[in-house]
Amino acid sequence: MKIGFAKVGTTAIAFEISKGSLKFSGTLRKFSRYLIELEAKITGDENISCDICAEAFTHAVNESVKFHLSDGLSKVENESLEDIVEIEDSMIDLDELLDSELELYKSNYFSCENCKTSD
Ligand SMILES: [Zn+2]
Repeated sequence: MKIGFAKVGTTAIAFEISKGSLKFSGTLRKFSRYLIELEAKITGDENISCDICAEAFTHAVNESVKFHLSDGLSKVENESLEDIVEIEDSMIDLDELLDSELELYKSNYFSCENCKTSD
């Protein structure tokens, strides 16, 4: 699902996409001239590898995310926000954003039930 940067105004737009059993739902709202604020939740089950035994296991994801989207970083040099994601071609690609948020989430430390109980 893609939304044009120019289509997002100061009134929040709700979105919801899914990928497998995961759901990515939230709102997009114009934050400043060149920035859009994305506030969303990622929920559902995801297969994650255990960092101890490397076995894949099903993990219930329930993650809140909030960041800003920029239509060209050079335009926001004066903005003092750290959590800015630059988008391409003035299009907000929600599937791509979900993928990158998931990658980030999966880079956290996870251990499966077996490894947890053997602590
Ligand atoms: Zn394990």
